[in-house]
Amino acid sequence: MKLSCRASLIKPSATLAITAKAKKLKNEGKNIVSFGAGEPDFDTPDHIKNAVKDALDNGQTKYTPVSGIDELKAAIAEKFSSDYGINYEKSEIIVSCGGKHSLYNIFSAMLDEGDEIIVPSPYWVSYTEIIKLSGGVPAIADTSKNNFKFNLKLLEKHLTNKTRGVILNSPSNPTGVLMDEKDITDIAHFAQKNGLYIITDDIYEKIIFDGKKFFNALMADKSMKENTIAVNAVSKTYSMTGFRIGYTAGPKDLISAMNNIQSQSTSNPTTFAQYGALAALKGGYEFTVMMRDEFQKRRDYMLDFFDKNIKSIIPVKPDGAFYLFIDVSKIFGKHINSSAEFCDYLLEKYLVAAVPGIEFGNDNFVRLSFATGLDAIKEGVNRIKEAVNSLS
Ligand code: PMP
Ligand code: GLU
Repeated sequence: MKLSCRASLIKPSATLAITAKAKKLKNEGKNIVSFGAGEPDFDTPDHIKNAVKDALDNGQTKYTPVSGIDELKAAIAEKFSSDYGINYEKSEIIVSCGGKHSLYNIFSAMLDEGDEIIVPSPYWVSYTEIIKLSGGVPAIADTSKNNFKFNLKLLEKHLTNKTRGVILNSPSNPTGVLMDEKDITDIAHFAQKNGLYIITDDIYEKIIFDGKKFFNALMADKSMKENTIAVNAVSKTYSMTGFRIGYTAGPKDLISAMNNIQSQSTSNPTTFAQYGALAALKGGYEFTVMMRDEFQKRRDYMLDFFDKNIKSIIPVKPDGAFYLFIDVSKIFGKHINSSAEFCDYLLEKYLVAAVPGIEFGNDNFVRLSFATGLDAIKEGVNRIKEAVNSLS
């Protein structure tokens, strides 16, 4: 049938597709090592699961207000106040069906046809597609020549009279790199002066290594509340990807428009999942810290392995999140000429799943998720070593 122009513009999510393909092959009995997953491999903590069970037993199976239950919005407001020292009213917060849905609502509510959003590259696969679905245009700003750190100079380079805002994602998916505080502060002040919005995607904020500190536009300056749209989710922080609970704090008129859109599309996010998110936000970070420390051990193992064993692959050292973005361009030549070809070769010949960098806007790289156990990681990197050796 004839599809809408908008639908034809959109690619499926490569990260989800590769994760699904790896799972399918595993279920068929293949000995796959998957570096595809964009979700923590830890079980959701019991106190969160129990809160959902209690909610179901207590009859929490009906609609809630579109923007989420009051208790959850209060807990989110409390989080913003204790983490960034900024107070939000409930009318400035909306809970949606995952961080992805939050972003979808944000861009649907703020963009007109042709409006531009600056997207630092490499970027998470869904930013460009969600912007396009909303009629907007992603303006891609390549950070690879600046150690993957976005800054004001790069922003200015991509500024036009159609620019409405910029997405900041620090630590980033796929590189794990943290932006410098000074760069965030400079961009915040520039945005304020020039009527731009900063969409700060803080989904990996609690997964930061080496004792480094999280920083975002709201922390740069309290008055940035007016120009900042903060997106977050319980998905990664508490290993709750399947709950589909994300949230946004931002200007009241934007939140109200998002509320209208949500009321005509999904209605409220799943009622009992909201009670799970409430228990998560109220339950502290003991689990998250354990998970973060484990991710750091895995990162260190992988960095050391590549350094000692595969000289032709150069990883970017991640400050956070759970991805290793590796430069594979030195092995391009006779047999392999792109990130997709390298990933196909790894999967077909060595049963290793990874996501081609081209999906994140950089064809020289491949993304390896280390949200998988250390034994699988050890096996996987050894297979990559074999794969690379047999090319030379
Ligand atoms: N932002 C980034 C950078 C992500 O990697 C993800 C991955 N899932 C999301 C947002 C959305 O997360 P979710 O919809 O699962 O809450
Ligand atoms: N964000 C994760 C990833 O990059 C999960 C999959 C997705 O939603 O894209 O792999």
